[in-house]
Amino acid sequence: MSLIEIKNLKKYYGKFLALDEVDLDVEEGEVFGFIGPNGAGKTTTLRIILGLLRKSSGKVHLFGSDPWHDAVKLHRRLAYVPGEVNLWPTLTGGEVIDLLGRLRGGFRQERREELVERFKLDPTKKCGAYSTGNRQKVALISALVSDVELYVLDEPTLGLDPLMEGVFRQCIKELKKEGKTILLSSHILAEVEALCDRVSIIREGKIIETGTFAELRHLTRTSITVDTIQPISGLDELAGVHNLSIEGKHAHFSVDTEKIDKILKHLTQFGVQSLISAPPTLEELFIRYYGDEYSSLE
Ligand code: ATP
Repeated sequence: MSLIEIKNLKKYYGKFLALDEVDLDVEEGEVFGFIGPNGAGKTTTLRIILGLLRKSSGKVHLFGSDPWHDAVKLHRRLAYVPGEVNLWPTLTGGEVIDLLGRLRGGFRQERREELVERFKLDPTKKCGAYSTGNRQKVALISALVSDVELYVLDEPTLGLDPLMEGVFRQCIKELKKEGKTILLSSHILAEVEALCDRVSIIREGKIIETGTFAELRHLTRTSITVDTIQPISGLDELAGVHNLSIEGKHAHFSVDTEKIDKILKHLTQFGVQSLISAPPTLEELFIRYYGDEYSSLE
Protein backbone atom coordinates (compact mmCIF):
# COMPACT_ATOMS: atom_id res chain seq x y z
CA MET A 1 0.00 0.00 0.00
CA SER A 2 1.23 3.52 -0.80
CA LEU A 3 1.44 5.80 2.22
CA ILE A 4 2.45 8.70 0.03
CA GLU A 5 1.26 9.06 -3.54
CA ILE A 6 2.15 12.02 -5.71
CA LYS A 7 1.29 12.47 -9.38
CA ASN A 8 2.11 15.40 -11.67
CA LEU A 9 2.80 17.71 -8.75
CA LYS A 10 3.61 21.28 -9.66
CA LYS A 11 4.55 24.09 -7.33
CA TYR A 12 5.09 27.70 -8.33
CA TYR A 13 6.62 30.33 -6.08
CA GLY A 14 5.29 33.35 -7.96
CA LYS A 15 6.41 32.70 -11.51
CA PHE A 16 9.21 30.36 -10.48
CA LEU A 17 8.42 26.70 -11.11
CA ALA A 18 9.98 24.90 -8.12
CA LEU A 19 8.40 21.47 -8.80
CA ASP A 20 7.68 20.28 -12.31
CA GLU A 21 5.45 17.20 -12.73
CA VAL A 22 6.85 15.35 -9.73
CA ASP A 23 5.73 11.73 -9.24
CA LEU A 24 6.57 9.93 -6.01
CA ASP A 25 5.26 6.76 -4.37
CA VAL A 26 6.29 5.67 -0.91
CA GLU A 27 5.12 2.22 0.09
CA GLU A 28 4.27 1.11 3.60
CA GLY A 29 7.30 -0.33 5.42
CA GLU A 30 10.02 1.00 3.15
CA VAL A 31 12.86 3.43 3.75
CA PHE A 32 12.65 5.83 0.85
CA GLY A 33 15.46 8.23 -0.03
CA PHE A 34 14.89 11.55 -1.71
CA ILE A 35 18.17 12.94 -2.97
CA GLY A 36 19.29 15.99 -4.86
CA PRO A 37 21.55 19.01 -4.44
CA ASN A 38 20.56 22.13 -2.52
CA GLY A 39 17.61 23.94 -4.06
CA ALA A 40 16.42 20.91 -6.09
CA GLY A 41 12.99 20.95 -4.45
CA LYS A 42 13.24 18.35 -1.66
CA THR A 43 12.00 20.55 1.17
CA THR A 44 9.21 21.99 -0.99
CA THR A 45 7.99 18.46 -1.81
CA LEU A 46 8.12 17.34 1.83
CA ARG A 47 6.26 20.44 3.02
CA ILE A 48 3.51 19.82 0.46
CA ILE A 49 3.26 16.16 1.53
CA LEU A 50 2.82 17.34 5.12
CA GLY A 51 0.16 19.91 4.24
CA LEU A 52 2.38 22.79 5.39
CA LEU A 53 2.54 24.26 1.91
CA ARG A 54 -0.11 24.40 -0.80
CA LYS A 55 0.51 22.70 -4.13
CA SER A 56 -0.17 24.56 -7.39
CA SER A 57 -1.55 21.49 -9.16
CA GLY A 58 -1.38 17.69 -9.25
CA LYS A 59 -2.36 14.90 -6.90
CA VAL A 60 -0.92 14.50 -3.40
CA HIS A 61 -2.19 11.79 -1.07
CA LEU A 62 -0.88 11.04 2.40
CA PHE A 63 -2.44 7.96 4.07
CA GLY A 64 -5.02 8.15 1.28
CA SER A 65 -6.15 11.70 2.20
CA ASP A 66 -5.43 15.21 1.00
CA PRO A 67 -2.79 16.58 3.38
CA TRP A 68 -3.81 20.22 2.83
CA HIS A 69 -7.36 19.54 4.06
CA ASP A 70 -6.69 16.85 6.65
CA ALA A 71 -3.35 18.01 8.07
CA VAL A 72 -4.36 17.89 11.75
CA LYS A 73 -5.75 14.36 11.55
CA LEU A 74 -2.81 13.06 9.49
CA HIS A 75 -0.12 14.59 11.68
CA ARG A 76 -1.05 12.29 14.56
CA ARG A 77 0.20 9.41 12.43
CA LEU A 78 3.62 10.85 11.56
CA ALA A 79 6.70 12.57 12.96
CA TYR A 80 8.62 15.23 11.04
CA VAL A 81 12.13 16.58 11.37
CA PRO A 82 12.39 19.83 9.39
CA GLY A 83 15.53 20.69 7.47
CA GLU A 84 16.18 23.81 9.45
CA VAL A 85 15.65 23.14 13.08
CA ASN A 86 14.38 26.17 14.97
CA LEU A 87 13.66 25.43 18.60
CA TRP A 88 12.26 27.66 21.33
CA PRO A 89 15.48 29.22 22.67
CA THR A 90 14.30 29.54 26.28
CA LEU A 91 13.17 25.93 26.66
CA THR A 92 15.62 23.15 27.47
CA GLY A 93 16.18 20.30 25.01
CA GLY A 94 14.34 17.97 27.38
CA GLU A 95 11.33 20.29 27.53
CA VAL A 96 11.17 20.48 23.74
CA ILE A 97 11.30 16.66 23.44
CA ASP A 98 8.49 16.36 26.00
CA LEU A 99 6.39 19.05 24.35
CA LEU A 100 6.69 17.74 20.79
CA GLY A 101 6.30 14.13 21.94
CA ARG A 102 3.11 14.97 23.84
CA LEU A 103 1.71 16.86 20.84
CA ARG A 104 2.08 13.62 18.87
CA GLY A 105 0.05 11.72 21.42
CA GLY A 106 2.60 10.78 24.09
CA PHE A 107 5.52 8.40 24.37
CA ARG A 108 7.13 5.90 26.69
CA GLN A 109 9.53 7.44 29.22
CA GLU A 110 12.03 4.56 28.78
CA ARG A 111 12.18 5.22 25.04
CA ARG A 112 12.93 8.90 25.70
CA GLU A 113 15.72 8.03 28.14
CA GLU A 114 17.15 5.44 25.80
CA LEU A 115 17.36 7.94 22.92
CA VAL A 116 18.84 10.74 25.08
CA GLU A 117 21.49 8.25 26.22
CA ARG A 118 22.22 6.87 22.73
CA PHE A 119 22.53 10.33 21.16
CA LYS A 120 24.54 11.57 24.19
CA LEU A 121 22.37 14.66 24.58
CA ASP A 122 22.43 16.83 27.70
CA PRO A 123 18.68 17.58 27.89
CA THR A 124 19.04 20.20 30.64
CA LYS A 125 20.57 22.92 28.45
CA LYS A 126 18.51 25.71 26.95
CA CYS A 127 17.99 25.32 23.19
CA GLY A 128 19.49 28.76 22.57
CA ALA A 129 22.79 27.45 23.94
CA TYR A 130 22.96 24.27 21.87
CA SER A 131 25.29 23.81 18.91
CA THR A 132 23.76 22.98 15.50
CA GLY A 133 24.46 19.28 16.03
CA ASN A 134 22.81 19.27 19.44
CA ARG A 135 19.75 21.11 18.12
CA GLN A 136 19.52 18.45 15.42
CA LYS A 137 19.70 15.76 18.10
CA VAL A 138 16.79 17.36 19.97
CA ALA A 139 14.70 17.40 16.76
CA LEU A 140 15.61 13.81 15.96
CA ILE A 141 14.88 12.51 19.45
CA SER A 142 11.56 14.41 19.46
CA ALA A 143 10.57 12.57 16.29
CA LEU A 144 12.02 9.14 17.09
CA VAL A 145 10.46 9.04 20.55
CA SER A 146 6.97 8.95 18.97
CA ASP A 147 5.45 5.62 18.04
CA VAL A 148 3.95 6.63 14.67
CA GLU A 149 3.52 4.99 11.26
CA LEU A 150 5.56 7.42 9.18
CA TYR A 151 8.75 9.39 9.84
CA VAL A 152 9.53 12.26 7.46
CA LEU A 153 13.11 13.43 7.90
CA ASP A 154 14.52 16.38 5.99
CA GLU A 155 18.35 16.23 5.97
CA PRO A 156 18.30 14.42 9.33
CA THR A 157 22.03 14.15 9.92
CA LEU A 158 22.94 17.76 9.19
CA GLY A 159 25.49 18.79 11.82
CA LEU A 160 25.83 15.34 13.39
CA ASP A 161 29.31 13.89 13.81
CA PRO A 162 30.07 10.45 12.27
CA LEU A 163 29.53 8.64 15.57
CA MET A 164 26.05 10.13 15.91
CA GLU A 165 25.32 9.44 12.26
CA GLY A 166 25.97 5.80 13.12
CA VAL A 167 23.49 5.98 16.01
CA PHE A 168 20.94 7.57 13.68
CA ARG A 169 21.38 4.82 11.09
CA GLN A 170 20.92 2.16 13.71
CA CYS A 171 17.69 3.82 14.89
CA ILE A 172 16.33 3.90 11.33
CA LYS A 173 17.17 0.22 10.81
CA GLU A 174 15.31 -0.65 14.02
CA LEU A 175 12.24 1.34 12.92
CA LYS A 176 12.27 -0.44 9.59
CA LYS A 177 12.33 -3.80 11.38
CA GLU A 178 9.23 -2.70 13.27
CA GLY A 179 7.51 -2.10 9.92
CA LYS A 180 7.60 1.71 10.05
CA THR A 181 7.83 3.81 6.90
CA ILE A 182 10.57 6.39 6.54
CA LEU A 183 10.94 9.13 3.97
CA LEU A 184 14.31 10.74 4.20
CA SER A 185 15.75 13.58 2.17
CA SER A 186 19.45 14.00 1.86
CA HIS A 187 22.30 15.25 -0.22
CA ILE A 188 24.64 12.84 1.58
CA LEU A 189 24.83 9.90 -0.76
CA ALA A 190 26.47 7.43 1.56
CA GLU A 191 23.59 7.87 3.97
CA VAL A 192 20.97 7.15 1.34
CA GLU A 193 22.97 4.21 0.06
CA ALA A 194 23.33 2.71 3.52
CA LEU A 195 19.69 3.05 4.54
CA CYS A 196 17.24 3.22 1.68
CA ASP A 197 15.33 0.50 -0.13
CA ARG A 198 14.48 2.85 -2.99
CA VAL A 199 15.53 6.34 -4.00
CA SER A 200 14.29 9.16 -6.19
CA ILE A 201 16.75 11.65 -7.54
CA ILE A 202 15.47 15.20 -7.98
CA ARG A 203 17.14 17.94 -9.93
CA GLU A 204 15.79 21.43 -10.60
CA GLY A 205 12.28 20.42 -9.61
CA LYS A 206 12.18 17.28 -11.77
CA ILE A 207 12.50 13.64 -10.73
CA ILE A 208 15.18 12.24 -12.99
CA GLU A 209 15.40 8.68 -11.72
CA THR A 210 13.56 6.37 -9.30
CA GLY A 211 14.43 2.82 -8.32
CA THR A 212 16.24 0.45 -6.02
CA PHE A 213 19.93 0.93 -5.74
CA ALA A 214 20.41 -2.24 -7.76
CA GLU A 215 18.18 -0.88 -10.54
CA LEU A 216 20.13 2.35 -10.67
CA ARG A 217 23.40 0.49 -11.10
CA HIS A 218 22.96 0.37 -14.86
CA LEU A 219 23.95 4.01 -14.65
CA THR A 220 27.10 3.34 -12.69
CA ARG A 221 30.57 1.93 -13.19
CA THR A 222 32.56 -0.47 -11.05
CA SER A 223 36.28 0.11 -10.78
CA ILE A 224 38.58 -2.87 -11.19
CA THR A 225 42.27 -3.44 -10.50
CA VAL A 226 43.63 -6.77 -11.69
CA ASP A 227 46.96 -8.65 -11.77
CA THR A 228 47.39 -11.61 -14.12
CA ILE A 229 49.98 -14.31 -14.91
CA GLN A 230 50.05 -13.54 -18.67
CA PRO A 231 50.16 -10.01 -20.09
CA ILE A 232 46.63 -8.68 -20.71
CA SER A 233 45.46 -7.86 -24.21
CA GLY A 234 42.23 -7.01 -25.97
CA LEU A 235 40.60 -5.14 -23.07
CA ASP A 236 40.53 -1.89 -25.01
CA GLU A 237 38.37 -3.50 -27.69
CA LEU A 238 35.65 -4.61 -25.27
CA ALA A 239 32.51 -2.50 -24.93
CA GLY A 240 31.93 -1.03 -21.47
CA VAL A 241 35.59 -0.56 -20.47
CA HIS A 242 36.60 2.99 -19.57
CA ASN A 243 39.74 4.82 -18.36
CA LEU A 244 41.90 1.81 -19.04
CA SER A 245 45.53 1.77 -17.95
CA ILE A 246 47.64 -1.36 -18.57
CA GLU A 247 51.21 -2.11 -17.61
CA GLY A 248 51.92 -5.67 -18.77
CA LYS A 249 50.25 -7.93 -16.23
CA HIS A 250 48.59 -5.17 -14.24
CA ALA A 251 45.47 -3.28 -15.35
CA HIS A 252 43.20 -0.68 -13.86
CA PHE A 253 39.90 0.43 -15.41
CA SER A 254 36.25 1.12 -14.77
CA VAL A 255 33.49 -0.92 -16.31
CA ASP A 256 29.77 -0.42 -16.95
CA THR A 257 28.23 -2.55 -14.24
CA GLU A 258 26.05 -4.57 -16.61
CA LYS A 259 29.15 -5.60 -18.64
CA ILE A 260 31.10 -7.04 -15.71
CA ASP A 261 30.43 -10.68 -16.51
CA LYS A 262 31.81 -10.47 -20.04
CA ILE A 263 34.89 -8.58 -18.91
CA LEU A 264 35.69 -11.00 -16.10
CA LYS A 265 35.45 -13.92 -18.54
CA HIS A 266 37.90 -12.13 -20.81
CA LEU A 267 40.32 -11.58 -17.91
CA THR A 268 40.35 -15.20 -16.72
CA GLN A 269 42.11 -16.36 -19.91
CA PHE A 270 45.23 -14.50 -18.71
CA GLY A 271 45.16 -16.23 -15.28
CA VAL A 272 43.88 -13.83 -12.64
CA GLN A 273 46.19 -13.58 -9.63
CA SER A 274 44.44 -10.83 -7.75
CA LEU A 275 41.39 -8.72 -8.40
CA ILE A 276 40.09 -5.74 -6.49
CA SER A 277 36.70 -4.39 -7.40
CA ALA A 278 35.15 -1.27 -5.89
CA PRO A 279 31.35 -1.19 -6.08
CA PRO A 280 29.67 1.80 -7.69
CA THR A 281 28.44 4.46 -5.34
CA LEU A 282 25.45 6.69 -5.65
CA GLU A 283 27.96 9.49 -5.82
CA GLU A 284 29.25 8.28 -9.18
CA LEU A 285 25.71 7.94 -10.39
CA PHE A 286 25.14 11.54 -9.38
CA ILE A 287 28.26 12.79 -11.11
CA ARG A 288 26.96 11.34 -14.35
CA TYR A 289 23.93 13.57 -13.99
CA TYR A 290 25.41 16.64 -12.43
CA GLY A 291 28.96 16.49 -13.76
CA ASP A 292 31.10 19.48 -12.95
CA GLU A 293 28.22 21.29 -11.34
CA TYR A 294 28.03 18.58 -8.69
CA SER A 295 31.80 18.43 -8.17
CA SER A 296 31.90 22.16 -7.54
CA LEU A 297 29.06 21.85 -5.01
CA GLU A 298 31.14 19.40 -3.07
P1 ATP B 1 17.83 22.60 0.33
O1 ATP B 1 18.47 21.30 0.66
O2 ATP B 1 18.80 23.69 0.03
O3 ATP B 1 16.74 23.02 1.26
P2 ATP B 1 15.78 21.68 -1.45
O4 ATP B 1 16.03 20.61 -2.45
O5 ATP B 1 15.06 21.31 -0.22
O6 ATP B 1 17.14 22.35 -1.10
P3 ATP B 1 13.76 23.69 -1.79
O7 ATP B 1 14.03 24.36 -0.48
O8 ATP B 1 12.55 22.86 -1.91
O9 ATP B 1 15.01 22.83 -2.24
O10 ATP B 1 13.73 24.81 -2.93
C1 ATP B 1 13.43 24.55 -4.29
C2 ATP B 1 13.51 25.85 -5.07
O11 ATP B 1 12.44 26.73 -4.71
C3 ATP B 1 14.79 26.66 -4.84
O12 ATP B 1 15.19 27.21 -6.05
C4 ATP B 1 14.36 27.73 -3.86
O13 ATP B 1 15.14 28.89 -4.05
C5 ATP B 1 12.92 27.97 -4.24
N1 ATP B 1 12.12 28.37 -3.06
C6 ATP B 1 11.95 27.69 -1.92
N2 ATP B 1 11.12 28.31 -1.06
C7 ATP B 1 10.74 29.46 -1.68
C8 ATP B 1 9.88 30.56 -1.34
N3 ATP B 1 9.24 30.59 -0.17
N4 ATP B 1 9.76 31.55 -2.24
C9 ATP B 1 10.38 31.51 -3.43
N5 ATP B 1 11.20 30.52 -3.82
C10 ATP B 1 11.38 29.48 -2.97
